[in-house]
Amino acid sequence: QCSTTRLYSSTDPLTILTSETLKKSLQNSSTAWLVQFYSSWCGHCIQYAPTWSALAGDVKDWDTAIRIGVLDCADEKNFDTCKEYGIHFYPTFRYFKARNSQPDTGKTYRGADRELPTVRQLMVTFLQNHSQEDWPPACPPLEPSRALEILSLLGQKSHQYTAVIFEDEKSFVGREVILDLMPYKGLNVTRVAEPDKIVREKLGIESLPSGYLFSPDGSHGLIDVQKPLRFFFSSYLKLLPGVRRKQARRIPEKAVSVENGIHVAWKEFNKSKVYMADLESGLHYLLRVELASHKTLEGEELKTFKDFVTVVAKLFPGRQPVVKLLETLLEWLISLPIAHIPYDAILDLVNNKMRISGMFLTNKIDWVGCQGSQPELRGYPCSLWLLFHTLTVQAAERPDALANTGLEDNPQAVLQTMRKYITTFFGCQECGRHFEEMAKESMNQVNTADESVLWLWKKHNIVNNRLAGALSEDPMFPKTSWPTPDLCPACHEEVDGLHTWNEKEVLAFLKRHYVFSNMSPKYTA
Ligand code: FAD
Repeated sequence: QCSTTRLYSSTDPLTILTSETLKKSLQNSSTAWLVQFYSSWCGHCIQYAPTWSALAGDVKDWDTAIRIGVLDCADEKNFDTCKEYGIHFYPTFRYFKARNSQPDTGKTYRGADRELPTVRQLMVTFLQNHSQEDWPPACPPLEPSRALEILSLLGQKSHQYTAVIFEDEKSFVGREVILDLMPYKGLNVTRVAEPDKIVREKLGIESLPSGYLFSPDGSHGLIDVQKPLRFFFSSYLKLLPGVRRKQARRIPEKAVSVENGIHVAWKEFNKSKVYMADLESGLHYLLRVELASHKTLEGEELKTFKDFVTVVAKLFPGRQPVVKLLETLLEWLISLPIAHIPYDAILDLVNNKMRISGMFLTNKIDWVGCQGSQPELRGYPCSLWLLFHTLTVQAAERPDALANTGLEDNPQAVLQTMRKYITTFFGCQECGRHFEEMAKESMNQVNTADESVLWLWKKHNIVNNRLAGALSEDPMFPKTSWPTPDLCPACHEEVDGLHTWNEKEVLAFLKRHYVFSNMSPKYTA
């Protein structure tokens, strides 16, 4: 069910509390809580809401140890509760300990400032101040390990990885990485504060913080990240082979999928490449399966289809037979004076007439970079994202490509075409609804082709973060903000303890990634 208050909605990664749910949620809770009591008419609360939502997103993976909530004191049904809790000023932040069976009005936060990194660090300290009796059961130890214990792991085999963050006394990196990895299994993360000279020399640690990894097979070494930051360490550890989200579905012993009763062997691939086989398989599915469920195209549907074919015919950086097919389809559509097109006529063109003259689009599915560890995972939606990212990048790199199509001079041409395709034809209606919400909110603010590339990248990351840990997530391909630091270290920065994107670098990376020269023809038919 969709709950909303005036400043927060169910799409924010936090819990919206009310007078009915507050006490039930806080008492005997298995997690600690940080609750913001706010008032929706208070200007500062309005201004602060994006920071609070960003904080909740930043610590989403900590929510089995500490959760973020909000309660609106301007809502009539919460008046009595706010009075009972003695809330006089807005916003008031209150911490509530885990496993507290007594009624408790919480401990007011009075920090130096309300910036995201400061509040996050205070959350860590608050967690650490729990006693053994009220320690949140899911929260791993946050105290530093002794260096000697760590040295005793050298050369030992184990059933899982152990990662150690070596850091100075005041650093929060180790504790934040420990909490970030809490929902993952297959590794144990710990930290060592102020390692002495002997330990440093033995492990080759030259600066702090540094990460050190003990692998299950007994091998060990320094964690090689470009920047010694929380986000880089956490991202590196989440992507280790064998490390999985705890609640994710079980991963099959062997990554083999079954299609039409036939076992399809796993294809090795390189995640820094885009595979033409994915793009072509996606186009095949779109044209011959998804659209083919429509008997006739007319009105808005026909217009959407024509715009889609225009955009792919002009911008798709594909192999010659595929591009020729798309161009011929476009010419045919333009030449037709009729207002209804039976979809069979389109299929006929795509399937039969084309073979004669060097035009061809594969008629089977061969996922490569979009392979799922199980047949129902990844595949078509993955290829659709790849296709539209590729098209936004092509529109930015080849500004004249849409000349004389009616779509030229429109920096949103690809995005608006995608929007219409997704809401009109994409089989996942719920996905279409979510995408439309994002489009309504900000697509019309896109003013250049470069902004259009970045808009889609940003929105795709919002979807990734929303779906992380969901049942539709493939455990072999955990959803995370993309590109990960291993693909683009320069894309990631930390400013005042906060992970930020260097958008100039992201744009440059996307323009290197979604181009023909980075597309592998391997596995194409
Ligand atoms: P995908 O998210 O499909 O990504 C495919 C590839 O794109 C990745 O492997 C990576 O190489 C690249 N990539 C990842 N992130 C970015 C980025 N930010 N910018 C550029 N490239 C990137 N599923 C739902 O359950 N609920 C939804 O509401 C929903 N909405 C969707 C909306 C749209 C428009 C689409 C196309 C799909 C939607 N899906 C939704 C499906 C979901 O987003 C995934 O496509 C699907 O779960 C398969 O995930 P995947 O692991 O293959 O990665």
